[in-house]
Amino acid sequence: MRSARVWAVLFGVEQAVVEGVEFDQAESLLVARVRVCRGARRRCPHCGRRCVGYDAGARRRWRALDLGAVRAVVEADAPRVSCPDHGVVVAAVPWARHGAGHTRAFDATVAWLAVHTAKSAVSRLMRIGWRTVGAIVARVWADTGAVTDRYDGLRRIGIDEVSYKKGHRYLTVVVDHDSGRLVWAAPGKSAATLHAFFDLLGPGRAAAITHVSADGADWITTVVRRQCPRAVRCADPFHVVAWASDAVDRVRRQVWNEAAGRGAGRRGVAVGEARMLKNTRWALWKNPQNLTDAQQAKLAWIAKTHPRLHRA
Ligand SMILES: [Zn+2]
Repeated sequence: MRSARVWAVLFGVEQAVVEGVEFDQAESLLVARVRVCRGARRRCPHCGRRCVGYDAGARRRWRALDLGAVRAVVEADAPRVSCPDHGVVVAAVPWARHGAGHTRAFDATVAWLAVHTAKSAVSRLMRIGWRTVGAIVARVWADTGAVTDRYDGLRRIGIDEVSYKKGHRYLTVVVDHDSGRLVWAAPGKSAATLHAFFDLLGPGRAAAITHVSADGADWITTVVRRQCPRAVRCADPFHVVAWASDAVDRVRRQVWNEAAGRGAGRRGVAVGEARMLKNTRWALWKNPQNLTDAQQAKLAWIAKTHPRLHRA
């Protein structure tokens, strides 16, 4: 492999020739001077059509992925072309999105990181501004949205609301249970918010949904019943577990209060019994097969002495 080709691979530039690589001392930057291959020149960035040249434009730089610990940029001419449909525009370059100041490889890395870690960490690691992280995610997402239809093939979905800003604002979110992915989210928690999702989905795809899980909120139930009447509505496991453990806790507290009250006269016995009950939480919560011997013994004791709590 010739060294120009090696540099092209390292800088992540395709359909381009690396004319030279220099280290810019003043800015501590590695700069690759690049020229677009003949076949990829003078393309409209919107339709990809080959156009007539308009002017030489300016020399531009695109931030590339760091090489080792050094920041790197790709530098090239950015001539303007005249497209019959899109007018005078800066010609497309194969290594970056139109209007972007970063290479596609850089964009892809930032977008991946943004999915897996905090925005502040991405900003520091990649040495870019907080707003730039958002702008990159938005343009990568716009491209992804153009090639994949994330509403297609939805069968089993979950609908929930999440709060942010310390519980003052809400988002309604829709997840795809089959892929485990977030499908849609919008500010607000009302029937109107959720209707916006079903408007995007359209009646055909709404009808194909077979199961909808939700937290039991009335506004969700009402919308779901209208939009996909044939879908099975389920309570989502998170809320079922929360409701069930709340209920068990309530009964446990009642039984404990009764035991403590009963023992007003015979103090020693009641205090012991109340303490036993107080420590039953884990025995009651865990699946029977996961209980320790001591917890199993405790559960048996509860079954004998407090049948109501055992049933709960
Ligand atoms: Zn065009």
